[in-house]
Amino acid sequence: MYASAPLWEEFYRRLESKAQSLIDPATGRVAAEYVEDVPCPLCNSSSFSPRVLRDGFQYVTCTSCAFVYLNPQLTQHAVRDAYNDEDVRKFFFEQLLLPHVERDQRGEFTERASVLKSLMPEARPRLLDVGCAAGNFLMRAEEQGFIGEGLELNQLYIDYIAAHRNVKVHARLLEEMKYPAETFDVVTLWDVLEHLPKPVETLKEVGRVMRRGGILGLTTINHACINEALLKDRWRYYMPPDHVCSFTPALLDMLLKKCGFSVVRIEHHYMFEVLADHYASFLKPSAGAPAISNKIRKMLYLILASTSQAMFNTMRSGDLVTVYARKS
Ligand SMILES: [Zn+2]
Repeated sequence: MYASAPLWEEFYRRLESKAQSLIDPATGRVAAEYVEDVPCPLCNSSSFSPRVLRDGFQYVTCTSCAFVYLNPQLTQHAVRDAYNDEDVRKFFFEQLLLPHVERDQRGEFTERASVLKSLMPEARPRLLDVGCAAGNFLMRAEEQGFIGEGLELNQLYIDYIAAHRNVKVHARLLEEMKYPAETFDVVTLWDVLEHLPKPVETLKEVGRVMRRGGILGLTTINHACINEALLKDRWRYYMPPDHVCSFTPALLDMLLKKCGFSVVRIEHHYMFEVLADHYASFLKPSAGAPAISNKIRKMLYLILASTSQAMFNTMRSGDLVTVYARKS
C-alpha cells in the first residue's frame, strides 16, 4: 500500500476532476441539467436534511429513516452522455489493479472465502460474485471448494478474465440473468452496495436467487468511523457521483432486515492512508531526499499504519466494513 500510495492519490484526483466537469461555476453545484431529485432508497420518503456537500454534490439524511444518500443524483442521460469515466477506470485497472491491488487482495480474499466456508459447511456450495472485477475472489473461493460464477459489466475485466482466468463470468446485470429462485448458497457483493441507486431492489433480487439459510457477504463504506469524524466532508469515501449511498452498521442492519437478511458477523477495516493523506504527508517518500531518510519515512509509516489499524479495528471504527448476513 505504501508503494502504491502516489497512484491511489492520482486515482482519487482524477475521479474528483471528473466530477468537477459537471459543476456549474455560477453556483458551485452540479449543473441542474444533469441531475434529478430522488426519494430515499430505503423508505421512499422525500423528506431529508442536508448532511455533506462534496465536489458540488450533496449527501442528505432521510428524516424518516436516517438513511444517507446522494440527492439529487445524475440522470441516466447525464451518466451516458456527460459523465464518461472510462479513462479513470482504465487508469485504475492498469496502474493499480494489475500491479498492486491483485496482490494486496490475495490474503483478504482468502480470509473472506474461509469465513464464508465456515458459515456454509456444505461440501460444494454454489457462489455468485456480483461485480466480480478481475475474478480474483472467485479464484480464492474455488480453492476452498465453492462452485463460483461472477457478474461483471466492465469490459476491461471481461477481456482480462477471458485471457488470464479460468473462472465463469457473465457480462450482465443480476436482474438480466433471470436465475431460477434459490439457485445459490452464497452471494457476494464486494465494494458494490455504495454504488447502487436502488439497493433494496438489488438485495431483494439477491435474496430471491439464494436459498433459505444462504449467506450474503459484502463490503461497503461506513461513515460512522473515526476518519469521517475528523475529516467531515473531506472524508475520502464521500465520492460523488460514484457513491450514491453511505452506510453505518445500524443502517446496514436496517437495510438487510428489510430485504430478508439478518447480520451474523461484521468486521471493521480502518484505513490509515485516509488520514495520512491529510495529516502525514511528511511520511511520503521524497524524490530529492537521501535514501536513508526515505527508508525511515517508510518504516514510520508502516509502524503507524499497523498499530492504528489494530486499535481502530478493535474499537469498531472502520472506514470500510465487511458484513456477513443469513437469508431468513
Ligand atoms: Zn428513508
